[in-house]
Parts: sequence; structure tokens; C-alpha cells
Amino acid sequence: MTHISPIFNVAQVRKDFPNLHILVHGRPLVYLDNAATTFKPQTVIDAIEKHYKTETANVHRGVHYLSEKATAEFEGARDKIKNFIHAKQSCEVIFTRGTTESINLVAHSYGRHFLKEGDEIIISEMEHHSNIVPWQMLCEEKGCKLKIIPFNDAGELLFDEFKKLLNSQTKLVSVVYVSNSLGTINPVKEIITEAHKLHVPVLIDAAQAVTYHSIDVQELDCDFLAFSGHKLFGPTGIGVLYGKASLLNTMPPYQGGGDMISKVTFEKTTYNVLPYKFEAGTPNVADAIGLGAAIDYLQTFGLDNTLQHKKELLDYGTQALQSIPGVKIIGTAQRKTSILSFTVDGIHAHDIGTLVDNEGVAIRTGHHCNQPVMQHFHIPATSRASLAFYNTKEEIDKLVKAVYKAKKVFE
Ligand code: PLP
Repeated sequence: MTHISPIFNVAQVRKDFPNLHILVHGRPLVYLDNAATTFKPQTVIDAIEKHYKTETANVHRGVHYLSEKATAEFEGARDKIKNFIHAKQSCEVIFTRGTTESINLVAHSYGRHFLKEGDEIIISEMEHHSNIVPWQMLCEEKGCKLKIIPFNDAGELLFDEFKKLLNSQTKLVSVVYVSNSLGTINPVKEIITEAHKLHVPVLIDAAQAVTYHSIDVQELDCDFLAFSGHKLFGPTGIGVLYGKASLLNTMPPYQGGGDMISKVTFEKTTYNVLPYKFEAGTPNVADAIGLGAAIDYLQTFGLDNTLQHKKELLDYGTQALQSIPGVKIIGTAQRKTSILSFTVDGIHAHDIGTLVDNEGVAIRTGHHCNQPVMQHFHIPATSRASLAFYNTKEEIDKLVKAVYKAKKVFE
């Protein structure tokens, strides 16, 4: 059954994504690996092609027609992102390579400048490695301590434990909005409110959340927010760090080079204003424009109008997978996105992944860059089906059939 609403119609939307219509091992592809990366609508592909075919130029540098055109498109993409996340100003949107680089930027610039020995950083047990390792590196360098908010066996953060961790030594909280392996939607608004009572800034890893529902950084009142274009139906190699201008202005540049300077002499260099202070060198112009096109595309129906469909997919998929003997869902939080991690008794996730791939079904298997999550559940890996708005119940049926077939191989 496909979800049809006046604004959002799955069958219609699927036509916009060429990659959904390929054959894999001679079968129509069933793509259920959207937490890893999403497919791109034709309009995104067209926008990138147009830039390379007829509008290639460097930005912020030339007075010639093409350079001004490329600059306008590039800065136009920044404005689209500002509106998409409801930032106050476009200068609060920094282009990066993705979530990972955005978090590293904060760790290197904010962290190295403001944190000192004995300071504490709070993260959670369900962070992606990109929101663990940069802080570990910083702690090693500065002598800071990393504190971890634990979660229960449903995959829900223990809020009271978080409150106990917060104290006068806490200098930063960095938490994931939506877990990529458990699907849990964390109470980030409450976390931010609590941290702000002690004037502690909060970074939100929105890599998965930004593709799920609309985000309002002013309403959340987060200090930083990071996400990747490729998970938002846009290109790889482009991402965003949102930061409050008041904070970004206090932070030193992350990298040095062209565009991030105001004046250079051998005696002294002064730095450019936001956002350019954090964008050294030629930026990823084409993919920023592609990300802008992805946002335009999403606004034709509105991400929030896909929520009902994704909830139906989650409920349907949960029921269907749970009905397979030996299958256990990992991550059963009350508030969850359409991410379904599971184990199958007696079969390693990689074997499941390979066998369902033979049926044309693409899922992710492994630790999902969430090794501490796997350690919590004492498992090496899970199989993960992550569903986007363009997925259907028929595709879930194909996954279930493929898992049954895989089980037969091992019987
Ligand atoms: N954070 C979360 C929750 C993720 O799911 C991912 C990627 O899977 C990342 C961070 C890292 O994103 P990227 O590899 O695009 O930088």
C-alpha cells in the first residue's frame, strides 16, 4: 500500500529518484540503507550538472559574470539552509564536509580555545563515533574528562543520570538528536534547557534528525547543530555547522587559508567575518548548490508531511520483523524514527546482509559507527533497515521474505 495524501504521494515521489529504479542482481532494488546515505532526486542531480556544465566559477573572488553567478547560487544555498533550520542569520550557517567535520570544527576551535584541564564534556552512550572521538582527542590534549549519559535497554537516555552528570565543571554537552543505530529520538530540547541552567553550551548532532522532521534551531535554542547533505537527499562532501553568532564570533578560526582572512601581512593577519572565518579555501560550491536544491525539493511537499507515512512504515516493519522466529529488534524506544536494527539468532549480521543483498535488498550490517551501543547490548553487530519517505510496505515485505530465505540457508 502506498501512502497518498494531497501533498505527499509516495508513488509520485519515487519517480523523482532515478536510483530507486535500478536492478541489483537482476531484481528491482529495495533500498533500505537511508541512515547511511539517501538517494538524490533528479532536481539535485540537475542542479549540480548545471553548475558544472554552464556555471563553473570560483566564489567570492571574481567580478566576472560567472563568478558573480556562482557566488549568488552558493550564498543562495546558505540562505535556503538558514530558512530550513530557522536560523536567525545566514552567517550562522557554516559549510563543512559533513557532520563529522562540523563536530571536529567545534572541538578544535571552541574546545581548544575555551576548555582546560579538569573541565568536563558530556556526551551519551549512543553517540556515533564522530561525536565521541573528537572529544576524546580534545580530552587527551587538554586533560578534560568525558562523561557519558547512559541509556536503558529500550535505547532511551536516562535523563536523571544526565542531570546528575551536569555540574560546575561541565563546559559542553554534545548529544545526538536521533540515534542512527537505535532510531531513538532524544529529548534534546529538555537536555538543552537543563544545560543552559548552568550556562553550558549544547551541540546537537542532527545527522539523522534533519532528514526526519523539520528543525527549528531557535526554538530548540541549541548552541551548535551539525548535519550532512548526503543524508538529506543532497550531495556527499557538503554539510553544515550551525552556531549561534554570539558564540561563533568568540571562536578562533579552525583552518587558515584563502577567504577566511580580512588582511594578511607577514607581521599580522586579521580574520574575515562570519561565516567566512570558518571556511578557508575554495568551498564545495557545486555540492552546496546541490544541497540547496535538495532543500527546495523537500519543500515541495514538506518533511513533516512524510511523518505519518514513516510512522506507518516503522509500525509495519516492526511487526513484520518481530514475527520472524529468532529475530529481535534492538532499539524499542517510545519515541523512534523509522530505523529498524535487528539481530537474527545464530546468524551473523554480515551473513544476513549478504544473503538479503542477493535478493536485491540493501540493508546495513555492522556496528554502524556505534560500537558502544553494540557493547551495551553485548552484540557484535546488527542488521539495520533504515526507511526514508520513498520506501513502501511492499519493500518491507521483500526484506522479510529475504530474511526468511536467509534463515533457510542456515537451517
Ligand atoms: N552522526 C550520526 C548520528 C550519523 O548517523 C552519522 C553518519 O552516519 C554521522 C554523525 C557522521 O556523518 P558523516 O559521515 O556524514 O559526517
